Amino acid sequence: MGMLDSPHSSGSIGHWTTRLELCPGCDRDMVQPDSYEPLWGDRWLIARSCPNCGWEHEGVFPHAALRSFEEHLDAIDDRLWDDLVRIQRELIDDEVGRFAAALQANAILPEDF
Ligand SMILES: [Zn+2]
Repeated sequence: MGMLDSPHSSGSIGHWTTRLELCPGCDRDMVQPDSYEPLWGDRWLIARSCPNCGWEHEGVFPHAALRSFEEHLDAIDDRLWDDLVRIQRELIDDEVGRFAAALQANAILPEDF
Protein backbone atom coordinates (compact mmCIF):
# COMPACT_ATOMS: atom_id res chain seq x y z
CA MET A 1 0.00 0.00 0.00
CA GLY A 2 1.07 3.60 -0.36
CA MET A 3 2.57 3.05 -3.79
CA LEU A 4 0.39 5.14 -6.01
CA ASP A 5 1.40 5.20 -9.63
CA SER A 6 -0.85 8.18 -10.34
CA PRO A 7 -2.76 6.88 -13.33
CA HIS A 8 -4.61 10.20 -13.56
CA SER A 9 -1.78 12.50 -14.53
CA SER A 10 -1.38 11.27 -18.09
CA GLY A 11 -5.04 10.91 -18.96
CA SER A 12 -5.84 14.52 -19.72
CA ILE A 13 -4.05 14.98 -23.03
CA GLY A 14 -6.38 16.44 -25.58
CA HIS A 15 -8.82 17.61 -22.96
CA TRP A 16 -9.27 21.36 -22.99
CA THR A 17 -9.23 22.72 -19.46
CA THR A 18 -8.82 26.47 -19.98
CA ARG A 19 -11.98 28.27 -19.03
CA LEU A 20 -12.54 31.23 -21.28
CA GLU A 21 -14.99 32.78 -18.86
CA LEU A 22 -12.32 33.12 -16.17
CA CYS A 23 -10.66 36.51 -16.05
CA PRO A 24 -6.92 36.50 -15.30
CA GLY A 25 -7.23 40.12 -14.25
CA CYS A 26 -9.73 39.75 -11.43
CA ASP A 27 -10.34 35.97 -11.18
CA ARG A 28 -14.06 36.35 -11.72
CA ASP A 29 -15.92 34.17 -14.25
CA MET A 30 -17.64 37.13 -15.86
CA VAL A 31 -15.66 37.34 -19.12
CA GLN A 32 -17.91 38.00 -22.09
CA PRO A 33 -17.28 37.23 -25.76
CA ASP A 34 -16.92 40.24 -28.03
CA SER A 35 -16.53 38.38 -31.29
CA TYR A 36 -15.87 34.96 -32.78
CA GLU A 37 -14.10 34.48 -36.05
CA PRO A 38 -13.49 31.06 -37.63
CA LEU A 39 -9.88 30.64 -38.73
CA TRP A 40 -8.74 27.26 -39.91
CA GLY A 41 -9.59 23.71 -38.89
CA ASP A 42 -11.31 23.94 -35.52
CA ARG A 43 -9.53 27.15 -34.57
CA TRP A 44 -11.37 30.29 -33.66
CA LEU A 45 -10.18 33.81 -33.08
CA ILE A 46 -12.04 34.87 -29.98
CA ALA A 47 -12.08 38.38 -28.57
CA ARG A 48 -13.17 38.66 -24.98
CA SER A 49 -13.48 41.31 -22.35
CA CYS A 50 -14.22 41.40 -18.65
CA PRO A 51 -16.98 43.79 -17.57
CA ASN A 52 -15.69 43.61 -14.01
CA CYS A 53 -12.15 44.92 -14.43
CA GLY A 54 -11.90 45.92 -18.08
CA TRP A 55 -9.49 43.16 -19.08
CA GLU A 56 -9.46 42.51 -22.82
CA HIS A 57 -7.97 39.68 -24.80
CA GLU A 58 -7.93 38.30 -28.30
CA GLY A 59 -6.61 34.84 -29.00
CA VAL A 60 -6.89 31.66 -31.01
CA PHE A 61 -8.68 28.78 -29.33
CA PRO A 62 -9.90 25.34 -30.37
CA HIS A 63 -13.56 24.73 -30.92
CA ALA A 64 -13.74 22.74 -27.67
CA ALA A 65 -12.86 25.86 -25.69
CA LEU A 66 -15.52 27.85 -27.51
CA ARG A 67 -18.07 25.15 -26.81
CA SER A 68 -17.47 25.05 -23.07
CA PHE A 69 -17.45 28.86 -23.04
CA GLU A 70 -20.88 28.90 -24.66
CA GLU A 71 -22.14 26.26 -22.27
CA HIS A 72 -21.08 28.51 -19.41
CA LEU A 73 -22.83 31.50 -21.03
CA ASP A 74 -25.95 29.40 -21.53
CA ALA A 75 -25.90 28.49 -17.86
CA ILE A 76 -25.73 32.18 -16.98
CA ASP A 77 -28.63 32.85 -19.33
CA ASP A 78 -30.63 30.15 -17.59
CA ARG A 79 -29.89 31.74 -14.25
CA LEU A 80 -30.99 35.15 -15.51
CA TRP A 81 -34.10 33.62 -17.02
CA ASP A 82 -34.94 31.85 -13.75
CA ASP A 83 -34.54 35.16 -11.95
CA LEU A 84 -36.82 36.87 -14.45
CA VAL A 85 -39.46 34.19 -14.09
CA ARG A 86 -39.26 34.41 -10.31
CA ILE A 87 -39.53 38.20 -10.30
CA GLN A 88 -42.46 38.06 -12.68
CA ARG A 89 -44.20 35.49 -10.52
CA GLU A 90 -43.74 37.68 -7.46
CA LEU A 91 -45.23 40.62 -9.35
CA ILE A 92 -48.22 38.50 -10.36
CA ASP A 93 -48.68 37.30 -6.79
CA ASP A 94 -48.59 40.93 -5.74
CA GLU A 95 -51.24 41.81 -8.29
CA VAL A 96 -53.45 38.92 -7.26
CA GLY A 97 -53.06 40.08 -3.68
CA ARG A 98 -54.09 43.61 -4.62
CA PHE A 99 -57.03 42.28 -6.61
CA ALA A 100 -58.20 40.22 -3.66
CA ALA A 101 -57.85 43.24 -1.40
CA ALA A 102 -59.84 45.33 -3.89
CA LEU A 103 -62.55 42.70 -3.96
CA GLN A 104 -62.76 42.80 -0.20
CA ALA A 105 -62.74 46.58 -0.14
CA ASN A 106 -65.60 46.66 -2.63
CA ALA A 107 -67.41 44.26 -0.37
CA ILE A 108 -68.60 41.90 -3.05
CA LEU A 109 -71.11 39.76 -1.26
CA PRO A 110 -71.82 36.11 -1.94
CA GLU A 111 -75.48 36.95 -2.63
CA ASP A 112 -74.43 39.06 -5.63
CA PHE A 113 -73.82 35.84 -7.52
ZN1 LIG B 1 -11.73 40.86 -14.81
